[in-house]
Amino acid sequence: MRNWSVPAGRIFGVELRIHLTFFFLLIFVWLTESTTHNPANPGRGLALVAIIFGSVVLHELGHALVGTRAGVPAKAIILLPIGGVTLFDETQQSIEPGLLTWKRDIRIAVAGPLVNLIIAAIAGGVLLAVAPQIHLWAKPYVYSGNLPRSLVWSNLGLALFNLLPAYPMDGGRVLRALFSRRMDSVRATRRAVSIGQAFATLFMLVGMLWNIWLTMIGFFLFIAAQLEERSAVFQSVLETVRLEDIMLTDFATLSPADTLEDALEKAVHSLQDDFPVIRGSDMVGVISKQKILQALRAEGNGYVQAVMNRIFEVAQKKESLASAFRKLTARNLSIIPVVEDEHLIGIVTLQNLMHSMALLAESRKLRQAALNS
Ligand SMILES: [Zn+2]
Repeated sequence: MRNWSVPAGRIFGVELRIHLTFFFLLIFVWLTESTTHNPANPGRGLALVAIIFGSVVLHELGHALVGTRAGVPAKAIILLPIGGVTLFDETQQSIEPGLLTWKRDIRIAVAGPLVNLIIAAIAGGVLLAVAPQIHLWAKPYVYSGNLPRSLVWSNLGLALFNLLPAYPMDGGRVLRALFSRRMDSVRATRRAVSIGQAFATLFMLVGMLWNIWLTMIGFFLFIAAQLEERSAVFQSVLETVRLEDIMLTDFATLSPADTLEDALEKAVHSLQDDFPVIRGSDMVGVISKQKILQALRAEGNGYVQAVMNRIFEVAQKKESLASAFRKLTARNLSIIPVVEDEHLIGIVTLQNLMHSMALLAESRKLRQAALNS
């Protein structure tokens, strides 16, 4: 999702990005404007887009700020044609003591629609009081000919639409949080996703009879629900896999006293990109193939000791893959040595991670099949 978006600045410390498909919305508005109102007024059309755009950004900021306060910092807000998405930095989350995860998730989910409801209430109240000539209750509710009225109704619409219990819409997130009180997060997500996909299908069908735009929304929702389900499954796999299940136990090591040329020679005969450096039975550093090559090119032959990276993280064999992942990404490492009683018993590298995950999945499947037969 990040790949197809362009940066659009920062707001309250959160990166704002616009997804390329958002520009379809602009074209859509421009097309409907130019066919329904003659002569088309591009200025007012753009102002209407700006109102909707601003309301969506404020909605996402509601999620982002409440999330950050509850211990899950927001990384970026991405604007899509059907609304926005706030990406949270799950690796950084620190659970506020005493706050249950499901309660926190409900707060974060409700914050977005709440922002729109507040805007609609304030704008509606002010308009009714000072400008009754804009006819708040007249149709069409949202159109470029009446921008103040559009502000009220588009925010009300955004709030109600997002509160639909269709995961991954905010209402669906509330539903999932409620489910997760009684079951694990994967099952809660699955249940919310199937309700969400039922809604999405309904949207697509009704849309075909009534409004093709609704079909598009249904289609996007369907895909989004599927993606969310997959990432929930992936996350739970990461939590249940222990490092001892996937670490490499057959690997090459280097000694700090090895020369770089010796190290390169060993590297040539190994598939590894990263090597633990061992003195006696102690781990003293890590070094990568690339680092060896760079040092050789820059300074000629020398010792591994002088070039190796002395700052590294170790993990225990019972640690989950999710925790190893957090260590790898937090420090931008490519290898994690696995130790038991201070002895090196295996390594986990980014390079072999995906490979060993796939093998592990296959071996579990085979074992399951053997049990069932
Ligand atoms: Zn939302």
